[in-house]
This record gives sequence, structure tokens and C-alpha cells, in this order.
Amino acid sequence: MSICDNFICDNISKNDAGHLTFGGLDTTILAAKHKTPLYLMDENKIRSNCRIYTDAFKKYFKEGSLVLYAGKANAFKYIYSIIMDENMGVDLVSSGEIYTAKAAGYNMENAFFHSNNKTADDIAFAMDCGVGYFVMDNVEEVLGVEAEAAKRGIVQKALLRITPGIDPHTYEAVATGKVDSKFGLAIETGQAEECTALTLQQSHIKVCGFHCHVGSEVFAEDVFERSAVVMLEFMADMKKKYGCDANILDLGGGYGVRYVHSDPYVDIDAKIKSVSETIRETCSRLDYEEPIIMMEPGRSIVADAGMTLYEVGMIKNIPGYKTYVSIDGGMSDNPRYALYGARYTCLNASRMNEDCNMTASIVGRCCESGDIIQENVEVPEATCRGDIIAVCTTGAYNYSMASNYNRIGRPPIVMLKDGEDKVVVRRETFEDMIALDL
Ligand SMILES: *Cc1c(COP(=O)(O)O)cnc(C)c1O
Repeated sequence: MSICDNFICDNISKNDAGHLTFGGLDTTILAAKHKTPLYLMDENKIRSNCRIYTDAFKKYFKEGSLVLYAGKANAFKYIYSIIMDENMGVDLVSSGEIYTAKAAGYNMENAFFHSNNKTADDIAFAMDCGVGYFVMDNVEEVLGVEAEAAKRGIVQKALLRITPGIDPHTYEAVATGKVDSKFGLAIETGQAEECTALTLQQSHIKVCGFHCHVGSEVFAEDVFERSAVVMLEFMADMKKKYGCDANILDLGGGYGVRYVHSDPYVDIDAKIKSVSETIRETCSRLDYEEPIIMMEPGRSIVADAGMTLYEVGMIKNIPGYKTYVSIDGGMSDNPRYALYGARYTCLNASRMNEDCNMTASIVGRCCESGDIIQENVEVPEATCRGDIIAVCTTGAYNYSMASNYNRIGRPPIVMLKDGEDKVVVRRETFEDMIALDL
């Protein structure tokens, strides 16, 4: 590959010094200032990604429809304040995420609490925090929520999570909508109907709607349309049989993003328009009132708003085999290649005007052979110790999946906005690492 001048996202470029820029700032200067490894996030990109959804929702869906940010993609206080400012709801999956959103001042009325296994403590904590909606996954949860709500003398709003039986054709590890899944209640087996009937009988739960989420990194044509049809047929059936008047349909998250140049663009506005047309047609065919729509994007809100910077250390060429370029982070800050071979675009941020004429594996510093960020990366031959390697599109499922394996501290997150850089999550220190050790 020759000199790189075609970037994976429009917030990436290079400057006259031959350095990579992100959000308009020179990444090598940011690396020197904040040290590496370093997560960068581009606030303007996060906000513009939010607005693609919120604008489309205004155009195509019924009033009251709401975009929920799936916090598991990247959860820290500052991001919840952006999400609140963008008038979005949140999808939370644990008491820890609830705590974080609340600490950021997030209004819990618009919080939706997921998880296939909420403990009794989770249920009580979520109610203490005033979480708006429980997204209920199974019968035990329904009974647990009913008991806790009864004890408090409240009526808890809820959605029921349904598995529509749709295969999204994505990675096996992130497919969730098939009948054989640990998530939700299958329509096919009758469990969805059974649980709906049971929940409707509870006097301290209000069934406000139904939820499904078929998977992540969805590029296939009509996945959301097909799940919308199945869900609307189910909702109409529940209305006919049980008088269920729930009027929220939450279609989950999952639109894919571009990690490498061969990934397609997803035109989210066009996708949402098409989903809205399917919903309108289906509702009219079923003579069913059009519901309020929710979606739960995580990755497509934050992925391309993120970039990780590392410094190159050891370079090892094994003649006849390959070249290893070691960086000062790895699976501790980005486990996705180790987990499921996730692809990334990697660039030598220090040498953007040089030909990429050497193939190398970018590897981390953890004590695992599988600690690889990416294999078969084209980098300039002069790549050497001290260069800055940038991994693009790391805003989702990197920081949120990071660990301090090998007692390597988690990197800070620096938020970039209008030419300014601000630390919003500080670097994990040695003191942090022993803070729990008694
Ligand atoms: C993971 C998840 C999402 C977000 O998925 P993305 O691929 O990040 O958009 C939304 N809803 C549920 C229930 C999820 O599990």
C-alpha cells in the first residue's frame, strides 16, 4: 500500500508535518502531552452521530419516539452528560452503569434497564435510583420486580424483551435475536406470550411495550424491518388476546460502522426511513395503531468518534516469518481482536507521508500470545521505537471492555472539541491498582 490519504472517517486527516490529525488536532502532540496509551474522543462527532438518529426520529416516527444510547458501548460520566444534552434516553445493563449515569446527573426517567440476569440487589438499586423502565427478560425477573414494587407501593413501568427469531448474519458472539439465545423470550416457543400474560396480571408492573435486539454490527439489508414486522404481529396478537395496550416498540441497537475500507457505509437516515415505512404498512395491514418507536444505538454513536494512540517499542523481525511491532498497550485496552478477530485500521501517525511498504503485526505488551491488535498491517519501513501508532474507530467497546490485566493501568480518555483537548477520564494509577487490596 502506498501513502495513506484516504481516511476511514471524515474526522481523520494529516497535516503539513506529515502527522495524523484527529478532530483537527495533531495526534503526535496529543500523545506527547497526555502520554500513551491514550484514548481520544471527538465530541463533535459523537454529537453529530446522535443527531443523525434524533433528526431521523423526528422526521419518520411518531411523536414521543426516543433514541436510547446503549451505554455499554462506552460508559463514563461525561458521555452521559452529552447524551442528556442531545435529548436522548439511555439503555443501561448493570447497577454500575446506572450509578455512573446518575452520578453524571442523567435524568433517570428516560433510563431503560436491561440485563438477562438482574439480581435482587440490582432490582432494588434501580428502583432506588428511579429508573424509568425495566426491560424484563424472563418470568423470574417479572416476579422479582412485582415483589419489590409491591413492597414499595409503586407501579414499575416495563418493556418485555422478545426474541423474534431472526438471524442478523453478524458475528456469532454478537447475534442475540435467534430463538436459541440467553436473552429474552421466544415467540416461537410460546414463552413470550406466556410471560406477557403473566406480566399483565401483575398489579405493580405496567407493560408499556416490547423490546427486541437481534445483534450487533448489522449490515444486512432488512434486519430491522423483519424484526419490526414480527414484533408488530406479536403486539397486535397480544392486544387481541389480552387487551394489551402497550404502545412502545423498542427495536434495539446494532447498526454497523466502518472499521476498515472494505466495510460498507450505513446510511442511517435512509435505514430508519425504510424501517418507518415497514412499520406504517404493517400497522395498517394489522389495523394496529402505530407505536412509539425506540432504538438503542451504541457502536454507531461512539465508535468512529474514538481513536487510540500507542507508542512503538520493540520491533522484532523474524526472517521468513513476520515482523512484530510492539506497542505500549494491547488487549488490556482493546481486547476485541483477541476476542473475535475484530478488524481495525492502524496507521503510523508519525509518518503519514511515507509509503506503507512493510507488513507487520501490531502486538501488545500483555503476557498472552493472543495479545494482538491487528495482523497484516501495512506500515512504513522506517517505523521505529518512539513512533505513534493510531488505531482508528476505537470509541466503542474498547474503554468499556478494558481491564488492568498484568496490572497495566487503563488509559485516560481525552475529549476533543473545537480544537481543545480535555481529560474526561484520568489514567489509572499504581495507587488505583492497589486501592482494593486490603
Ligand atoms: C449491545 C446492545 C445494544 C447496542 O448495540 P450496538 O451494536 O452497540 O449498537 C443495544 N441494545 C441491547 C439490548 C444490546 O445488548
